Amino acid sequence: MKQKKVPLRKCVASQEMMPKKELIRIVRTPAGEVVIDLTGKKSGRGAYICGKLECFKLAQKTKALDRALKVPVSQEIYEQLARDFISVEEQFLAAKEASDDE
Ligand SMILES: [Zn+2]
Repeated sequence: MKQKKVPLRKCVASQEMMPKKELIRIVRTPAGEVVIDLTGKKSGRGAYICGKLECFKLAQKTKALDRALKVPVSQEIYEQLARDFISVEEQFLAAKEASDDE
């Protein structure tokens, strides 16, 4: 079996370098929306956050997403993202565990 190169990305909240699949991508779409991108395939400017709600909250507090996406992210969007984040967190962790079994 070949060792695959793991692409690393930085979490915008904790500044940790992590394998891409352990991070949740948040994207600013060409239409200017800020959304969670679980597929990693949406076009637009992306930012990564560890798949942990604490990190998301930290990003909200420090406005790390605003800086990473180079767009002001309103409080409502952060709240919407936080809700989405909670709902994808389990899905994300389940997918991660499944891929660890490979
Ligand atoms: Zn983090």
